[in-house]
Formats: sequence, C-alpha cells, structure tokens
Amino acid sequence: MCAGSPYGDCRRCHGMGHAIKHDRKGRAKRGKDCRRCHGHGKRVRVGRRLYNLWLRIYREGQTDTPKPTAARPFAKKG
Ligand SMILES: [Zn+2]
Repeated sequence: MCAGSPYGDCRRCHGMGHAIKHDRKGRAKRGKDCRRCHGHGKRVRVGRRLYNLWLRIYREGQTDTPKPTAARPFAKKG
C-alpha cells in the first residue's frame, strides 16, 4: 500500500541522496548529489496523491452531512 508509506527510498542512491565514493584509503566519502531524487533521497509515490484526494473528499462528505440530532420531527415534547 502506498498510503502507509507515501515516500519511498530512491533506488539509485538507496535513500542517501547522494552517491558514495571511496578514496584511496577505502574510506567512504560523499559523492555527487543523486540526479534522480535531486539529493533528497526520497521520492513521492503516485499513490500518495490519490490518497490525499480521497481523504479530502471523505472529510468534506463528513462535514457537509447534517447532524441527525438537529431535526427530529417525531421527537416527543414533555
Ligand atoms: Zn537518489
């Protein structure tokens, strides 16, 4: 499901946002920014937009419906 985790790790840089270089001594160094995710390391999945849209419609539907307790034509008085 995309709803649970709207952001996925970039496959190219594995969520690091940049490439990893190794110098001559074998130590890890920060390389260039990843082109695919523009250095963020995360990428938005398509399902998130649909989820947001559905959530907004769902909330609007809830607020627009009148409360059942507002009008009771058959309520007894006294
Ligand atoms: Zn990346």
